[in-house]
Amino acid sequence: MNHQRSKDHTEQLDFYKKEIVKVVHLMYQRQFIAASDGNVSALLDDGNVITTPSGIPKGLINEDDLVIVNRHGEKIAGAEHLQPSSELKMHLRVYELRSDVRAIVHAHPPITTAFSVANVRLSDVILPETIFTLGMIEFSEYATPTTEKVAESISEAVVSNDVIVLTRHGSLTVGKTLMEAFSKLDSLEHTCKIICEAMKISGVVNASSSSAILTPLPAVEVERLREIKRKISERGKCQNGNGRCKGCPENHDQLCSDKEKMKVEVEVEVETELGKEEDILSEKNISYIVNEVVKRLAL
Ligand SMILES: [Zn+2]
Repeated sequence: MNHQRSKDHTEQLDFYKKEIVKVVHLMYQRQFIAASDGNVSALLDDGNVITTPSGIPKGLINEDDLVIVNRHGEKIAGAEHLQPSSELKMHLRVYELRSDVRAIVHAHPPITTAFSVANVRLSDVILPETIFTLGMIEFSEYATPTTEKVAESISEAVVSNDVIVLTRHGSLTVGKTLMEAFSKLDSLEHTCKIICEAMKISGVVNASSSSAILTPLPAVEVERLREIKRKISERGKCQNGNGRCKGCPENHDQLCSDKEKMKVEVEVEVETELGKEEDILSEKNISYIVNEVVKRLAL
């Protein structure tokens, strides 16, 4: 490794260590995990993976507790007494299947997990914002935690989804950055809380799907939101093309242009898309969605 590469590697390692600790503490504070639950990882440029160890209370974790493993899951760096989580197999499978993913967050968010325990699916879109932040929420088949089966259970869904509910277990969210993967977890649990409250207000005791008692967004509206998201994603592609920017570690395919300029473009796009016709989205909602999209693309 030459001097420059070694310097880049050290800088990347330092950055990921800080980000992982920040994300894990946020997960603990937001009560998405308890005790030593959950695990977080990031893919390094050299192909190895930096991750949280097993057995350490996550609220107390610090940068010295992190371990580095190769793509076979063998530890290559880290304190002698610490080992990577047995759930790391699931992370390694995702990196194998998704070349665009650089960070993975696995947690046990209570409301989200409760939906899977109650066997209530979130198959339809109830809230428009979830299209932008989460896409479809997939549920994996139940698999015994810590076994190879967990990696198998998510393999099919993770190819085309960034957010997966692990039945009777927790959540798996992936992204280009650690904060993006964490934000998806945050939005997932928040969405589940809203749906849970709505179900309580509706007095629902038994339902196989949230859409059995809550009115899903009309299919035409879901399609429209998807189309807006697709156009926004294209607009948001990195225009630099001459080196890495903070937001796009690999292919410059994430927003890196000026936020305000982007916001104006997105507003024009949404207005054009919706035209003057009467719509269930009010102006206030459109402006909210635009702000949310810009905020998240800029992560
Ligand atoms: Zn777990």
